[in-house]
Amino acid sequence: MGIGALLEDGIGDTIRVSLTEDAVAEVPVAFKLVEKYNRLCRTPGQDRGLPPSVTSRSEVRLPDPFAYRRRETLACDLVYHRLGNGHLPRVELSLRSRLAALDEAVSEVARLLGQNGDSALRVAGGSNGRPAFTCETVHVRVESDADVHAFVGLKRRLQARGLHVPLAVEVSRTGLASEAIWRAADRVVYPCSASVQAAELSQIAGSAKRFGKPVEWKLVLPESAAGDPFERVERDLQKILAACTTHDWWQTLFSIESAPAALVRPYRYLAGRLDALAANLPVLLRYRGGEQEFEAFLLDASAQLGALLCDGIGDALYLAGPYPAEDLLRLAYNLLQATRTRISKTDYISCPSCGRTLFDLKSTTERIKSKTAHLKGVKIAIMGCIVNGPGEMADADFGYVGAGPGKVNLFVGKECVERNIPEDQADQKLIELIKKHGMWVEPS
Ligand code: SF4
Repeated sequence: MGIGALLEDGIGDTIRVSLTEDAVAEVPVAFKLVEKYNRLCRTPGQDRGLPPSVTSRSEVRLPDPFAYRRRETLACDLVYHRLGNGHLPRVELSLRSRLAALDEAVSEVARLLGQNGDSALRVAGGSNGRPAFTCETVHVRVESDADVHAFVGLKRRLQARGLHVPLAVEVSRTGLASEAIWRAADRVVYPCSASVQAAELSQIAGSAKRFGKPVEWKLVLPESAAGDPFERVERDLQKILAACTTHDWWQTLFSIESAPAALVRPYRYLAGRLDALAANLPVLLRYRGGEQEFEAFLLDASAQLGALLCDGIGDALYLAGPYPAEDLLRLAYNLLQATRTRISKTDYISCPSCGRTLFDLKSTTERIKSKTAHLKGVKIAIMGCIVNGPGEMADADFGYVGAGPGKVNLFVGKECVERNIPEDQADQKLIELIKKHGMWVEPS
């Protein structure tokens, strides 16, 4: 994620990827990671900066590139949780079942919430029988009158089964003529195309206020090089903010749907303009995969969404693509963990290994993970030697550091508290140390 985020900003001429894997397994990943940026190098000008017409008239408040600060926003209420205003970034996926197939749709939601007895979501990090990664908002597309009725039925069925999750309904203006949709939706997602009119936006904002429902304004940007994304964001933003002001309705958030390869700059522009206009509204980061294999999707989503999250932009993540829901959820939570915006499992820091490494880094890391992966929020560093290891442990709570052949030193923070422990006793000593510092819980 970190390397990809830097490459997104044009920084980096050579990369050294460290995955705690055999070096030979790292090479294909490294090639896949640089592929997009090498392509951009060969065809300069594809991803343009702000056009002069926008730069000259618009102030954009950009994040400090040298310090992390989450964007400050108003909160948006979503029945079971809130977005923005310092709340944890939330994770959202789409319902894939047809609304007409109601039983199937209910089962799918149960599965996304980890409440159908399926063990697929009970991955490392879950505790007390609860899955670690669950979908926190389900995005539903309503495309016809029949869908409107089916959606209302779905909402009732979910409530009857105790499946409590906000439903974000993407619906056209025609669909929003139905009061039933407004009553049943927890959030309305309104796609703003190039032809969106001010009167239409005002009508949506007015209805949202009347029914007390949050609106997500989804700016749909052109996929092709035709049309300038910044001009479009600017134009839509002005019209939407005018509609919200007219109706004094600020339970609202923004998102962008764009070609997946070019999300970072439009999102930065959107957030920078919202802040400059003192319209501190939450932003949902959308990434929709296309035809690519999951690994390519994972790398590009990590680079782009990671860059934005490191900028402090993003109050929720929406991932979509033709991949298993479990993979999308795992990726979303891993991204939030890697950017430290939401900690949901143990954090491991390990060195890339080199000629000084005093134990097998891969198998040692796997062994320690198998014993500690349920310790949500605990940071453990596994470093190959004492020469550079302690200096590279960052802000780890505990350190497991090679001290000599078959010998390990253990650290609490930067302080070495146990020296030259035989390697076969070091795991148990590490666990005792975690217990002593009150950070241990028994695995469920
Ligand atoms: S911590 Fe030690 S073993 Fe690990 S990469 Fe650095 S020098 Fe090599």
